[in-house]
Amino acid sequence: MIMRRKSRVISIGNIKIGGSEKIAVQSMTNTDTADRDATLAQIKALEAAGCDIVRFTVNSMDAARNIEYFKLNTKIPLVADIHFDYRLAFAAVDFGIDKVRINPGNIGSEDKVKAVVDKLLNKNIPIRVGVNSGSVEKYILEKYGRSNAEALTESAIHNGRLLERLGLSDIVLSIKSSDPQIMIEANRIVAAETDFPLHLGVTEAGTPKMGIVKSAIGIGSLLADGIGDTIRVSLTADPVEEVPAAKQILSALRLIERPNIISCPTCGRTRINLIDIVNRLEVELDSLNIQKHIDIAVMGCIVNGPGEAKQADIGVAGGDGEAVIFKKGVILRKIPEADIVEEIIKEIKLILLSL
Ligand code: SF4
Repeated sequence: MIMRRKSRVISIGNIKIGGSEKIAVQSMTNTDTADRDATLAQIKALEAAGCDIVRFTVNSMDAARNIEYFKLNTKIPLVADIHFDYRLAFAAVDFGIDKVRINPGNIGSEDKVKAVVDKLLNKNIPIRVGVNSGSVEKYILEKYGRSNAEALTESAIHNGRLLERLGLSDIVLSIKSSDPQIMIEANRIVAAETDFPLHLGVTEAGTPKMGIVKSAIGIGSLLADGIGDTIRVSLTADPVEEVPAAKQILSALRLIERPNIISCPTCGRTRINLIDIVNRLEVELDSLNIQKHIDIAVMGCIVNGPGEAKQADIGVAGGDGEAVIFKKGVILRKIPEADIVEEIIKEIKLILLSL
């Protein structure tokens, strides 16, 4: 059981993050925000995939104006990503944004930052300060010589405290790096020294092949320590792919409830087509979108299979062209190989009915 860090709770539109609230999954559109229909379609696709918060760049007044249209057509909390021009933060708030992501360092003078803070306070809008290796202040970089974990941490805490001095408390921090180890170290320091809610992500993580591994290491290590209130898996891919990847990290740590497949790697003893069976089972389970933790063991033989199969909620131990199916440690029956997926799904549905 993971003990969550006690961070402050903040509201983003109709959801809360921080404290013991659910860990929210975020993603970011890659359409031109000024193209309102293409962007709305992607927001809706992300929402349908199970995303909890969607961010998009607000890099022009046309983009800012579209926020009103997005708010009218979707319920998911929306975050405006703003760089350099503080007037776009004003416009985003006026058009109904739920949260703003800025970096005080690139907004300009403290007067401009103060003006943004006053605007946010006026409408109860939270802010995320996003720090990465490219955004660390010059004097901090000179102090550490490079964007290491200490430099990122100092920049994040400096910006968080600056906003607090200006009167804001609904502040989320993100400290990202493309190096999972730096991101882990920096977030651990900030987690120990502050109660700001933390947005976790390994930035520029690459294609799904390596990006999911880096994200699982970076985000997963912190979540396993109870650190992190919202996550984004950044992939060089369709943003919709980021959502199941994030959910899988949460599911593997049991921070959300999902069916859990335990399957053996197969070996020379395997006498059923276990790889195909498990792949088909995974597709079936995804299509059912079950939000309960159910352990399903699919094992290839009767040597090591029954032990694992008995411990699971539903288990299968393969024989030669057939298998034995277990439910909570008790043998139910022998089943032919061709029926394994169907029989497992049938038993899962019975478990769900009994809950
Ligand atoms: S469970 Fe059986 S078939 Fe699967 S890897 Fe282990 S010994 Fe091999």
